Amino acid sequence: MSNSQAALVQSAQQHLYPNYRQPPLVFVRGDGAELWDAEGRRYLDLFAGIAVSTLGHAHPRLVRAISEQAGKLIHLSNYYYNEPNVLLAAKLCALSGMDRAFFCNSGTEAIEACLKLVRHHFFGKGETNRYRVIAFENSFHGRTLGALAATGQKKYQEGFGPLSGVTHVPYGNIERVREAMGDDVAAILLEPIQGEGGVLPAPTGFLRALRDLTTQAGALLIMDEVQTGVGRSGRFLACEHDGVRPDVVALAKALGGGVPIGAMLCTTALEGALPPGTHGSTFGGNPLASAAALAVLTALTEDKLMERAHASGEFLTARLNAVAARHPKKVEQVRGRGLLQGLVLREGYEARQVLGPLKDAGVLLTAAGDRVLRFTPPLTISESLLDEGVSKLDQVLGSLA
Ligand SMILES: *Cc1c(COP(=O)(O)O)cnc(C)c1O
Repeated sequence: MSNSQAALVQSAQQHLYPNYRQPPLVFVRGDGAELWDAEGRRYLDLFAGIAVSTLGHAHPRLVRAISEQAGKLIHLSNYYYNEPNVLLAAKLCALSGMDRAFFCNSGTEAIEACLKLVRHHFFGKGETNRYRVIAFENSFHGRTLGALAATGQKKYQEGFGPLSGVTHVPYGNIERVREAMGDDVAAILLEPIQGEGGVLPAPTGFLRALRDLTTQAGALLIMDEVQTGVGRSGRFLACEHDGVRPDVVALAKALGGGVPIGAMLCTTALEGALPPGTHGSTFGGNPLASAAALAVLTALTEDKLMERAHASGEFLTARLNAVAARHPKKVEQVRGRGLLQGLVLREGYEARQVLGPLKDAGVLLTAAGDRVLRFTPPLTISESLLDEGVSKLDQVLGSLA
């Protein structure tokens, strides 16, 4: 088989399971916030593989960490400690303010670990009737059956039931949360900014109210920081902006800078909830992924990437607001935090009407929901590349009927 783009696309269409909807492009290389396809065409990457490639592509520090670790030890399993994983756990606890870290391989697995931790915690206390989780409409928590039960969107759940044990209430509505509470509630689970649901930040005071409510009720607070965490919001965890410390945190996406790794973090009070044998993962915390995550966290602190995410976020918001002001009939709002920003189109427009032409103009972005263009560029991106992306968006919006 020839490796031309056309031949690769044809083979993909024949052999890959068709559960995605890719355009006929094959990417072969990246550098920072730029990508190249198999025909050598350059694209600007403003989505970073869904908020994952936080250091951009081919970052020297990450490449070196992975290569060096691959030459030493790639896999071991959790029968023994491995050096990068031990170092990573300590660094992750220090950065997040949490006490313990359990490692897995993805966001959905991190959520699964959170849910199992919470149930087993109450099981261990003899409170076996405390199992129910309150989650939110429009949320996204992953696609395994446990995480899917928590995901509050019909389009992901339909056809996979029965899914049980979760009550969904409107995001941001503390009264509805109070009504849904009961002695059987083990935890409240939420994203501090709903990502897939449309880049929707929680209203001011909501996280604090949930913290108080769970504490009073003897229930736990789980923060899904899979998309918002690891510095993207300008702080290590987005819930820090509200001064809230959850009991349990889920991380993944950006943690490995592109190498698959997820983590469940919790407080000391929960360290006995999952004793040996109750939960585990063959690949979880493997040396290769741990070395990658350690390199990401080192870059985050040494290169001041959280400060940078905050400053670049301000720059991007200002530029997007200018675009919104030029297209008031098409753009409703710009919202988000740091380098997680959403440009909300007005009713009657759909994100995909913009994303296609934008891709043809050489800019890659994703949608979050039907009407929201989601910006999740690498935290290392320059203002000039952000500017280039926003200018092209401006042109595409201008030519939209
Ligand atoms: C992406 C995402 C997940 C699922 O992560 P996967 O790595 O795709 O399993 C869970 N929660 C949130 C908030 C996410 O954005």
